[in-house]
Order: sequence, then structure tokens, then C-alpha cells
Amino acid sequence: MNKIIWQAPGNGKIFDSSFYDINKTNSYMTTRSFYVLEFFIKMGKIKIIKIKDLEKQIKNYLINNFKSFKKNDSVVSHFYKPLIFYGLLKYIYIGNDKYIMPSFEGRKFVSEIKINNSTLALSYFFRATMEVMYPNDATPDVKNLYLFPFRIIYYYILKNGFITKDFIDYKIVFINTIADINNNIFYNLKNTSKNKKFRTWVINSLVDVGILNLKNDIYTLNNNIITLIQNEYEMNIDKMFFTWNDEIEFYDTKIITKNKARNQKLAKSCIERSNFKCEIDNNHFTFNSLSNNMYLESHHVIPFSMQNRVDFELDVIDNLIALCPNCHKAMHYGDSNIKTSMINAIYNYKNNFLYKNNINLNDLLYIYLNNTYLYKN
Ligand SMILES: [Zn+2]
Ligand SMILES: [Zn+2]
Repeated sequence: MNKIIWQAPGNGKIFDSSFYDINKTNSYMTTRSFYVLEFFIKMGKIKIIKIKDLEKQIKNYLINNFKSFKKNDSVVSHFYKPLIFYGLLKYIYIGNDKYIMPSFEGRKFVSEIKINNSTLALSYFFRATMEVMYPNDATPDVKNLYLFPFRIIYYYILKNGFITKDFIDYKIVFINTIADINNNIFYNLKNTSKNKKFRTWVINSLVDVGILNLKNDIYTLNNNIITLIQNEYEMNIDKMFFTWNDEIEFYDTKIITKNKARNQKLAKSCIERSNFKCEIDNNHFTFNSLSNNMYLESHHVIPFSMQNRVDFELDVIDNLIALCPNCHKAMHYGDSNIKTSMINAIYNYKNNFLYKNNINLNDLLYIYLNNTYLYKN
């Protein structure tokens, strides 16, 4: 076995209360994290040139907006790195440039907090944790670790009713297959302080925000979260350890098999609606198909694999766009430059549907450049 090196993000917990308590006195860290995330949302997409400059901007934002901010509060990277870990912020790459921007869930999370809907904010936070995997941008020192840590914890609790502190400290990192879950051998990690940090910072933050409950070193799931999982996720253990490509393929197969007839009808209407012209550029020409019209393919603007992460229907004609096969392949396989220019074109074209569902240009960029939602086959 290759040696596993583990790392927890940041330098401490970043949540110390429920989201309901933001701006109240018992909620310093949760409130600080909220304002840090709000800063990134206001900035949209920040090109990272000098980390020190970014940190200065974050600190100024906190001083101006977060009334109880302690000016001597220490290292700013510890405020936002864990937000990357939880999937509320992401690094994206366009060409050779590195950007940081809010994830789809991160932006939804902040907008729900702003209208005092802390329950919905929690569900967006939860959805973000479902996608967290190692390797992770917030923990660059991690080696030989490939798993979805929160999914394993949630699944284990759903199956057994609870998970122990020791299981999290000593076992999670060694789970690579389904059999490992039931394997009772506790491997010894050499440096246990790192595992303890993962639990006391990352996992105990989930207790404070209300995803997990903790009593006598035993973790259970909050009832609201159990309901959310039952309604929205197929917690199928076979899918829990999947790599992204396999997972997207899973969704793709699902749409093709479950809704095949409906899907073909939608695709046909979408292509007819386009007047048989590529909707990225109506001068694109490919070849005529048997129907004597130019051959086109339909593409989901918001990928269908995101269906259980949004509260509106994705398999609808408004979410489809007719593309020439060249453009269609580029949407899936293109580099960040080509994708960015196509997304700008699509965004203007699909404005009504996207606006109605509160998806902005940055969300779309995030979805396409993050490369986790588009199937590859
Ligand atoms: Zn497509
Ligand atoms: Zn085209």
C-alpha cells in the first residue's frame, strides 16, 4: 500500500454555530465564513496573482462589512481555504490563469442566508459536502487518497445508525472499496494528530451547523438531513466510491434509459426550433442528414447530472440547445478558452431560462470549467 498522507484544510474550525445564528454573538466563526463567501460572490471571479493582495482585500471586506470582526484575527488563508474544502468556493483554470470563484452551491447558500432561509441554506451546504473529494484543492499535501469523505460518513450513519469518533480518526482514510467498510481491522495512522484535526475541525463544524449530532463520541445525522438524503439521493453504496467520470456516466445512462422516448422528442423539438442552425453560430455547416436538414445535436445547457442539485427541471426544452457536432464536442471536451467563449454565447442566448432559475454567467462558467458535471464518452 502506498503511504497515505493526510491533511485537514486551514487551521481550525470555520463554523461554530448554525446558519440561523449568523450575525448573533455566539456565531463569530460562522458569521466570518459567511462574509468571506459573500466577498467572493461580490467579486464574481478573481484572478489569483498575488495571494497577499487577495488576503488584504478579504480582510478589508471583513473590516467594512462584518461589524464584530476582530482586526487582529490571524491568517486570512485559514478563513477561505476550508470554504474551498467544503466545495463552497473553487479554483478554476482558464488558459494558464488561475481563478477563485464561488461554486453553484456557495452562491445559493449565501442568497438563502440573505433572505433568512437558513434551512434551505443548510441544504445547499449539505449538497456541497456530497461532492467533496480527496484529492482536494484545499489540501495540496494529501497523497494517495481518493475518496468522498462525507459520503462515506453519511452512508455509514444511514446504514448503522451512527459512526464513532475512532472510526473517523482511524478508518475513513483507509476505505477504498465497499469491503473496507465492513472490514474490522483498524489500521494505525502514524501521525494521528492530522486525523484528529480532520475530525475536530472539519467534522465538528458539521455538528455545529446542524448536519451531524454529537453525543458521547458518537455521531448521528440530523433528522432533516436524513429526510433530504431520502428525498434527493440514491445512497447506493456501489456509487459512493465512483470517480467523477463513472458518476456522470451513471446519470447519463439513467436519462437515456428512463426517459428515452421523451428525451428523443425533446431533442427533435429543440433542433426544429433552431431552424436547423447551430445556435452558437448559425453559419456553422456540417452535413445534411437523411431528413434533408443539416445534422445537429441537442445539448443540456445545465447538465442533467446536476438534477439533484437544483430545484428546477433540467430535462426540458428550455434547457436544450441545438449545436453542430463540432460545437457539441467542444462543450464537453474543449479547453477553458473555447468553453469560455461558447458559454458567453450560450448565456446571452439562454438568458430567460437561466435568469428565471437564478443562474448567472459565473455559475455557468463554474459548471463548465469545473469539469465535474459533463459526461465523457
Ligand atoms: Zn452535450
Ligand atoms: Zn456550431
